[in-house]
Amino acid sequence: MIVTGGAGFIGCNFVRHVLAHTEAEVLVLDKLTYAGSEISLAEVAEDPRYRFARADIADREAVRSLFADFRPTQIVNFAAESHVDRSIDGPGEFVRTNIVGTFELLEAARHYRAELPEGERDAFRFLHVSTDEVYGSLGETGLFTEETPYAPNSPYAASKAAADHLVRAYFHTYDLPALVTNCSNNYGPYQFPEKLIPLMITKAVGGQPLPIYGDGSNVRDWIYVGDHCAGVLLALERGRPGEKYNLGGGNERSNLQVVDRICEILEEELPAANNPALAGRGYAELKTFVQDRPGHDWRYAIDASKVTDELGWKARHDFESGLRETVRWYLDHGGWCDAVAEESQRRRLGLGVS
Ligand code: NAD
Repeated sequence: MIVTGGAGFIGCNFVRHVLAHTEAEVLVLDKLTYAGSEISLAEVAEDPRYRFARADIADREAVRSLFADFRPTQIVNFAAESHVDRSIDGPGEFVRTNIVGTFELLEAARHYRAELPEGERDAFRFLHVSTDEVYGSLGETGLFTEETPYAPNSPYAASKAAADHLVRAYFHTYDLPALVTNCSNNYGPYQFPEKLIPLMITKAVGGQPLPIYGDGSNVRDWIYVGDHCAGVLLALERGRPGEKYNLGGGNERSNLQVVDRICEILEEELPAANNPALAGRGYAELKTFVQDRPGHDWRYAIDASKVTDELGWKARHDFESGLRETVRWYLDHGGWCDAVAEESQRRRLGLGVS
């Protein structure tokens, strides 16, 4: 199995999940942008079923030669530029990686598969990992189903939507056995500390302001990353080619509720009174409301009944226990946060990575 973007947040959790639950050999294909690090894969580095290749999914030659060399039976595409704020500041890289990169992978898969013997050709699968953001924004009520029309609002969401359409077209036009999963907001270990939950935890522990967009009322449907990984593997193994499956945690929370709960959990796990960085303040006093993100979608929520009915998948973690586990993980892994932040900074400055 080739796992693109396997050095990122969800990808590295998925690689661990696959090595633990299947016999598959895994090749991680990752460009190692600021968001990806082999440090996140250190636990599996010695596993004989694991290999790593640093490559760009948009690099045609590199992708095709890795396909020819590794001879995969399954491709799971996690590789992407994934941060909405960055897509607003610089959409170009999102178009290149998320759209052109997915196109190059599809092309490589199509040509490679055509040369396979018949049985292997039928068994081949291409699973594209996507987001619920392709569906746009919900009001107070309603849920995204697989039939909800696409209405992406950010450059990130638009680039993911374009990739989803290409995957669909490769199934219909070239019979490529491809599937798409659309998942809600993930949280859990190994998430780069620029996204809401790890950002709030790491800033709070350091006694820094906790920036909350607008009035904090935007709602997301949170899913524990391990549940997402289990859903992707199930869809890969048992999903029907040509179909898309929504995955969601059924845990709707406003951003403000999430930040408040993180502050409460931190008060229990690392009381502010014992944390010198807080200088006598409580964690909740660090909350700071900042100007809203342009075009900020108000609410996302997933109807996951199709994947439950067809494949028997259900998110197992409730938000309360998952969030506490995640806060504890970040408290216990300050070294990981420092190491990935330093590595990312060195790459940005064009310095070598030690
Ligand atoms: P991430 O930003 O943590 O990781 C992305 C990984 O892709 C990194 O390892 C990076 O180095 C790699 N990458 C980026 N550009 C590449 C390129 N051109 N070639 C090869 N590798 C490249 O992202 P994530 O949060 O783990 O998300 C993974 C996938 O899941 C993405 O496709 C994202 O759209 C999707 N998704 C994420 C969420 C979420 O809440 N994080 C929710 C639904 C779907």
